[in-house]
Amino acid sequence: MISFENAINIILDKAFELTIEQIDIKNALNRIIATDVVSDIDMPPFDKSAMDGYACKYEDISNSLEVIEVIPAGKKPEHIINKGQCSKIMTGAMIPQGADCVLMVEQTQLIDDNKIRFIENKTNKNICLKSEDISKGDKLILKGTILKPQHIAILATTGYTKPFVYKQPRVGILSTGDELVEPNIIPAISQIRNSNSYQLYAQVNATGSISNYMGIAKDDRTNISNILKNTITNNDVILLSGGVSMGDYDLVPEILEQLNVKLLFQKIAIQPGKPTVFGILENKFIFGLPGNPVSSFIIFELLVKPLLYKMMGNNLTTKNIKMPMGIDYFRNKSDRKAFIPVIISTEGTILPVEYHGSAHLNSLCNTDGLISIPIGQNQLNKGDIVNVRLI
Ligand code: AMP
Ligand code: MG
Repeated sequence: MISFENAINIILDKAFELTIEQIDIKNALNRIIATDVVSDIDMPPFDKSAMDGYACKYEDISNSLEVIEVIPAGKKPEHIINKGQCSKIMTGAMIPQGADCVLMVEQTQLIDDNKIRFIENKTNKNICLKSEDISKGDKLILKGTILKPQHIAILATTGYTKPFVYKQPRVGILSTGDELVEPNIIPAISQIRNSNSYQLYAQVNATGSISNYMGIAKDDRTNISNILKNTITNNDVILLSGGVSMGDYDLVPEILEQLNVKLLFQKIAIQPGKPTVFGILENKFIFGLPGNPVSSFIIFELLVKPLLYKMMGNNLTTKNIKMPMGIDYFRNKSDRKAFIPVIISTEGTILPVEYHGSAHLNSLCNTDGLISIPIGQNQLNKGDIVNVRLI
């Protein structure tokens, strides 16, 4: 049995980056950028009006002003503003030469056809200065960033319409178990629906990787072996669910070894998820995940997700926040590092999710994050500050 820290190090040590490809900006959400994004322009590209109003000289705001031009956004101003003059200007339009201030239209009054006056006694300048947001040459997105909608706006603004991104790992998902039926079947007595495969499928997709569902294998050497061979051929990462613990029909580790998969660990000192298996075959990564849905969910989060992100060029830094426990927490045994699903309460405290064991899958639906308790520690007290890993 190895420690959690060793397990993650072994996985990340073997991980390699996939090659890159060029895609359309419209498909770039959640992909990981493979180059820095450098601005080819200043933003704003010119001094621009922040308001609909009148561009004039600030020294002139207590005088009545003659309107000499109307400047819509997108049009170059034609006239220079002199003393006693202004131009009507729209938000986003270019400030005319000679002006250093925009009076808000709501703070002015028309005094005849082409004259206005300011009816307040003070105003902001209301001008967004050239390059105050972005200068040409600024590095706006770093290589390895996961592209969120905000980043897509930057790609558009800087003309990166065909960004280079890392290729996505293909992840084959295979559940084992004689008791499993597909979710569209009403289970007979002694059967249950296969929920893990679909949970994993969604977890994989949420990382921006590609899920391939390979079906259910019966707890039978030939059956598992045949589906597994096909799964390994067609995927970069293989997630097997079930068949990894100590039961008579837990055949996954021995079948992996028969297929020449080099097993790098078979047990981790964590709770839940102790019987997690990890191996490699050439450039393929194979996980045997515990069949219990809560264990499978948490092990994916802790071990599989960092591997998938690393293959896509991102060193996933999980978001952690420090918050106080809302209640006492106690566990009987402390021989493993525990990961506990928790809720962030409306009072801003941490409450462990009520959770009857690793099969209790609906317990996860309200979960905001995971906290961990190290080996040797049995208790957390109300008020203790804990590190919450948001999920
Ligand atoms: P195993 O790891 O095969 O010993 O399975 C542990 C527990 O998880 C058993 O109660 C199984 O019935 C359950 N289980 C295994 N695979 C799945 C699955 N794909 N979906 C839901 N539950 C599962
Ligand atoms: Mg099983």
